[in-house]
Amino acid sequence: MKLDGSTIASATGGTLHRDAPAGDIVTDTRTLGAGSWFLAITGDRFDGHEFLEQAQAKGAIGCIVSRSVPESWTGGAVIVPDTTRALQALGQYVRGRFPGPVVGLTGSSGKTTTRALIANALKPMGEVHQTQGNLNNHWGVPMTLLATPDTATVLVVEMGTSGPGEIEALARIGTPNVRLIVNVGPAHLEELGGLDGVQQEKGAMFATARPGDICCVNIDDERVAAIPIPDGARRLEFGGPAAETVALLEAEVIPEKLSTRARYRTPEGEVEVVIPAPGRHVALNAAGALTVAVALGVDPRAAAAGLADYEPVGMRMRPERLPSGALALNDAYNANPQSVSASLSVLAAMPGKRWAVLGDMLELGPQAAQWHRQIAGEAGSLALDHVLFVGPMMATAAPACVGPAVQAFQSPDDAAAWLEGRLGPEDVVLFKGSRGARLEDVLRALNPDPGQGAP
Ligand code: ADP
Repeated sequence: MKLDGSTIASATGGTLHRDAPAGDIVTDTRTLGAGSWFLAITGDRFDGHEFLEQAQAKGAIGCIVSRSVPESWTGGAVIVPDTTRALQALGQYVRGRFPGPVVGLTGSSGKTTTRALIANALKPMGEVHQTQGNLNNHWGVPMTLLATPDTATVLVVEMGTSGPGEIEALARIGTPNVRLIVNVGPAHLEELGGLDGVQQEKGAMFATARPGDICCVNIDDERVAAIPIPDGARRLEFGGPAAETVALLEAEVIPEKLSTRARYRTPEGEVEVVIPAPGRHVALNAAGALTVAVALGVDPRAAAAGLADYEPVGMRMRPERLPSGALALNDAYNANPQSVSASLSVLAAMPGKRWAVLGDMLELGPQAAQWHRQIAGEAGSLALDHVLFVGPMMATAAPACVGPAVQAFQSPDDAAAWLEGRLGPEDVVLFKGSRGARLEDVLRALNPDPGQGAP
């Protein structure tokens, strides 16, 4: 949505230094186009105020700053006390003027997948605007709202947290009409103080619901199911066969297509769909998407047709054929015990010789060693052939993995050196770890030129 200087000033409570016509609000000079307003965010690593000259050179029509406007600045200008708060106020302003429904979702694992599935399921409603990339925090959520095209009919906004109170703040900015919590799991435990803290934090998505809002509850997750719904808000359920609104009756991974055939009971009868991503957890996320569709009056059969067009996002179970002929599944984008467990069960459904390369899971707080042992034990209980534990925490947990052949390494380089020459065309290798575990380095050592892409 384009905003002019006086609207920006009134929406942010800022001072109009000099007015200028309406333009998009942009925070990054690299993506700034002529005629936009440049909002100078003071971030952890960068201060937007240092980029005003660049913004002007690229044709910015105005700036939103928390310092005095430089003499050389000839465009419009609004001065605010805090540019992050101004961004949030502008996001809230745009939200308030959006006439269509807004869907908000959070969860410990599967937010991005579920967000994209919801967007696909809502295609029958017209133009869906959704979170791009990982813009799901206190900057990303307002940026998502500000980027709403005038032609959009429905918004799907992903909300993430890394500290207490963030989801509440984001839910107030986005004020979704339909709210969904994918799950409550062991992620960001350090900042949120254990699983109770995670439940409390995610629970804010429901706690802030207003009368008439609809809360979509994953009943397979005990902690989500236990979150109270405020008076006047409606509760819809998704999950396994006991779920009232959308029940996942059957999920079968089709290994050669890295897809999942899923069958659901919906208020409009049974629906079957092949979702182009592997795993029961994906089928469960899709049950959430169908529930959102039901909440917004979209026929679940039409919504399911949209799910069939889903395209997996980023480094999530991305298949890659290695020069050795082995199939790598690159899921090294992030990891917590819940998501590692989901990925291991996908690997266990694959044909051939199964390898898991597991990297440290970071930010798990004081119970970290225990969580690593639990995952190692789980890897041992599945039908896997080889498990490589990479990193100090995984290496320590390795003895808990009984069954497969086990190797432990302190670093990705050591793991890569050991793996070299050991893989063949019958092998499928899952790479899963936290970003900081650098498992993609192992993959790159095995396949320096991934240009060929998918198998
Ligand atoms: P987020 O945006 O919350 O980080 P993603 O959609 O990017 O989540 O998925 C991250 C990883 O979490 C996936 O690769 C998958 O392994 C796992 N995952 C996705 N959905 C679920 C789920 N419902 N339960 C458990 N793990 C999941």
